Amino acid sequence: MRFKALYSNVSESPSDATEQGFFKVRNSQLIYGHKKNADGCIVVDIEAATIIKEIYSMALNGYSTPEICESLVNACYPTPREHIMLSFGNNIKPLCNWNSKNVRDILRKIEYTGALVTGATYKDTETGKCRKTTKDKWHITPDVYPVIISKEDYAEVRAISNNRANIQMKDYLLRRKVFCGGCGSAMSFERSNNFVYSCYRTLADTSASCHRFKVSVAELDDTVLTTIKKQAELIISIDNLGELKKGVVNSNHLTELKKQAEHLSSLRQDNYEKYITRVISKEAYHTQRADINSQLDSINSRIVMYTQAYEISLAKDKAVKNAYGVLDENATPKELVETLIDKIHVYPDNNIEITWKVMGFAVGI
Ligand SMILES: [Zn+2]
Repeated sequence: MRFKALYSNVSESPSDATEQGFFKVRNSQLIYGHKKNADGCIVVDIEAATIIKEIYSMALNGYSTPEICESLVNACYPTPREHIMLSFGNNIKPLCNWNSKNVRDILRKIEYTGALVTGATYKDTETGKCRKTTKDKWHITPDVYPVIISKEDYAEVRAISNNRANIQMKDYLLRRKVFCGGCGSAMSFERSNNFVYSCYRTLADTSASCHRFKVSVAELDDTVLTTIKKQAELIISIDNLGELKKGVVNSNHLTELKKQAEHLSSLRQDNYEKYITRVISKEAYHTQRADINSQLDSINSRIVMYTQAYEISLAKDKAVKNAYGVLDENATPKELVETLIDKIHVYPDNNIEITWKVMGFAVGI
C-alpha cells in the first residue's frame, strides 16, 4: 500500500518530486513488468514479468541480443508496447516484432531489481519538452518497487554485456556447454584477470558449494580437448581389434523378420476367415491360431531385440567415424566440440563430467 501514498501526492516538476520524496506515476509512466491493482498500487504484472525473467535467463546463458529477439518472436510474445496497449484494453492485434532495442532496454532497467530511479528526465523550461538526463544525475533508491530480477542477476547481466563489448563472445570454444556441477546452472563466460567460467546462481549464497566458483577457460578448453583425443584413440584401438564388428546386425536381417511377421499375420486372418465361412472346425481354428500366435510372439520379440542391437551398431559406427574425425588434423576444435559434446558439468573439486552427443563416445563403449 505504500506505493499509493507516493503517487497520490503529485508535485509539479521532477526535481521537486525527488526532494520531497514523492513521484508521479501516471498510466503512461508505468514500466513494462509493473501494473496497478484495483487500489492503484503498483504490483508485478505476472505475464510481462515471466517474459522479462526469460530474457534475463537467456542473457545469463550467453545468448546474444539478436538470438534473444529471435526466440521472443518465435514464441509470439507481444512486444512491451503491445502488451501495455493490450493491458489498457486497446483492441490491437500484436505483431510480436521484438527488436534489439526492446531487449537491451529490458536488460538495462534497474527498476526490475526493485529500485526507483528519479531524475532521469527533466522538463526543458524553454520548449516545455521532456528530456533525458545523463546517468550521473539519476537518483536511485533501492527496494521501492516489487522485485522481478534479483540484484545479483542484474549485476551479472550488466557484466556480461560489458564484456561482450570487448570480446567476441560467440567465438569461445565451449559456448553454452558449461554447467556448474554444484547447482546445475549454466556458467557464464567472463573476464576477470583471465577469462573464466563462473557460477553466478549462488553469488549471494555463501553456504553453497559453488559460491564464487570459477574455472579458467584456457584450462577447461585444454582438458576437454585432451579428453576428446583420448576417447578417439581408445575407440579406434577397439575398432582395430574388430571388437565393434561383433554383434553387428545388418538391416536385411531385420527386414526379413518383419516380412515373416506380416506373413504370419495374414495367415492368422486366413484362418479366421476359414472358420467363419465354416471351411474348418472351431477346434482346428483354435489350434491353428495358438500355433500362429506363438510364432508371432517369438518373431516380435526378436524384432525388438534386433532393432535395439541395430541402433546400437549404428551408434557404434558413428562413434568410430567421429573418432577418425577427431584424429584428422583438419578438424577444428570448435567442430569437434559441436559434433561430440552436448554438455560439460564442472564441479567445485575441479572434476568434469562430459555428456557426449554420440552414444559410445566415452569410456566403456
Ligand atoms: Zn553453481
